[in-house]
Amino acid sequence: MNDGLDPFDRASLIAAHDEVNAFDAVVPPIVQTSLFTFKDYDEMIAAYRGERVRPIYTRGLNPTVRMFEEMLARLEGAEDAIGFASGMSAISSTVLSFVEPGDRIVAVKHVYPDAFRLFGTHLKRMRIDITYVDGRDGEAVEKALPGAKLFYMESPTSWVMDTHDVGALTALAKAEGILTIIDNSWASPVFQQPIALGVDLVIHSASKYLGGHSDVVAGVVAGSKELIGRIRSEAYPYLGGKLSPFDAWLLIRGLRTLPIRMKAHERSALAIARRLQEHPLVEIVCHPGLGNHLPPGLSGTSGLFSFIFCEDVDVRRFADHLQIFKLGVSWGGHESLVVPGEIVLAQKAEPNSAVAFGISPRSVRLHVGLEGTEALWSDLEAAIGAASQKG
Ligand SMILES: *Cc1c(COP(=O)(O)O)cnc(C)c1O
Repeated sequence: MNDGLDPFDRASLIAAHDEVNAFDAVVPPIVQTSLFTFKDYDEMIAAYRGERVRPIYTRGLNPTVRMFEEMLARLEGAEDAIGFASGMSAISSTVLSFVEPGDRIVAVKHVYPDAFRLFGTHLKRMRIDITYVDGRDGEAVEKALPGAKLFYMESPTSWVMDTHDVGALTALAKAEGILTIIDNSWASPVFQQPIALGVDLVIHSASKYLGGHSDVVAGVVAGSKELIGRIRSEAYPYLGGKLSPFDAWLLIRGLRTLPIRMKAHERSALAIARRLQEHPLVEIVCHPGLGNHLPPGLSGTSGLFSFIFCEDVDVRRFADHLQIFKLGVSWGGHESLVVPGEIVLAQKAEPNSAVAFGISPRSVRLHVGLEGTEALWSDLEAAIGAASQKG
C-alpha cells in the first residue's frame, strides 16, 4: 500500500477509523461467539457454497478477529493478514503451508529458539531439511539458496540481535524463485515493513509489541491475498490455531498505541544501552542502534536487547538485586524484564543450543518497558554494583 504516509501517521489514522461501529461506540464490540445462525436453508447453503462471505463458525471467520487482521494488514502495507492463537502457531501453520517432504528451508542463524526447535523436530521428522546461514554474509546466503523452497529470516535475530539487509537477501531468494518469510516481532510495522522490501510473508508474535500489555498470547501473518489465501484454506482450519475474538479485541486495543509505545521503548532502551556500553563491567552490548547507522529498511529500534557481562560479575546476584526489572520471559509489554542467558540454556538439554541461540552464560537480555528511564538505570546500576562485589 503506497498512500504516502509514514507508518506512524498511518497507524494513528487506522486507530481513528474502526469499521465496526455498533451504537457509535468508540471501542468495537467483541463478537464473542463460537457460531453464527442463518435465517433459512437458502441463506445457509449460499454461505456454505461460498456465494456469500459471512461468518459461519469462529474457527473460520469471526468479525472481531477479521477487524484485527485488516488493521494489521494495513499497518504492514500488505493485502491481507490472518490471526493465530500464538506466534508459534503462525510460524508453524505458515511454514507447513508451503513445504513438502524432501524440501529444504534456508534460515538465518539465531532465529527464535522455539522456531529453531520446530525446524529441528517436527519438520525434520517430515523429511524437511534446514540449512542455517549467517544473514550478514550475502555470499553465504546466495550459496545456500539454490534448490531451497523457503527462506526464513529474522532481523534483528533473537538474543544476539544481528541485523541483515532484508531487501538485498530477499532479492537473492526471489532470483531463485524461493518464498521469503520474516519474523518481524522485534521491529513491529512501525520500524520495519518487510512487504515494501519485497518479502512475501511477515509473521509476528502478537504477544509482544502488537498486544503491548502482556495480557495476550497471539500471532499473525501478513502477505498477498494469494499467499494468505493458501494458509487460510488448509493450515488455518485444519491445524486450528485460531485467534480468539477476545484476544483479537485486546490486540485492536494494543494497536491504537503501538506507534507511541514503540517510540518510548526506542528512546529509553537506547539511552540505557549506551550507558551499559560505557560501563566497565559490561563487555559487549548487542543493540542494533549502537552502530553508526541502521541497516536499510529498519527505521528505528525497540526495547529488547542483550549484553554480556565481564567475567567478575555474578549474574545471579545481579538478577536478584533488581527491583523494577522483573525476572520473566517474553517482552513487548509495558514492564521491564530481564532474562539471564543461563536460564534459557537450562530450559532443555540440547546439544549446541548455546551456539545455535548465540547465548553465553554471561549474557543477559533486557526488555526496557515504559517506566522512567532514570529509575530503570538506577535499578540496573545498583544491581551491577551489588553483583560485582566479591564475597
Ligand atoms: C515470542 C516470539 C515468538 C513466539 O511467539 P508466541 O506468541 O510466544 O508463540 C516468535 N518469534 C519471536 C521473535 C518471539 O520473540
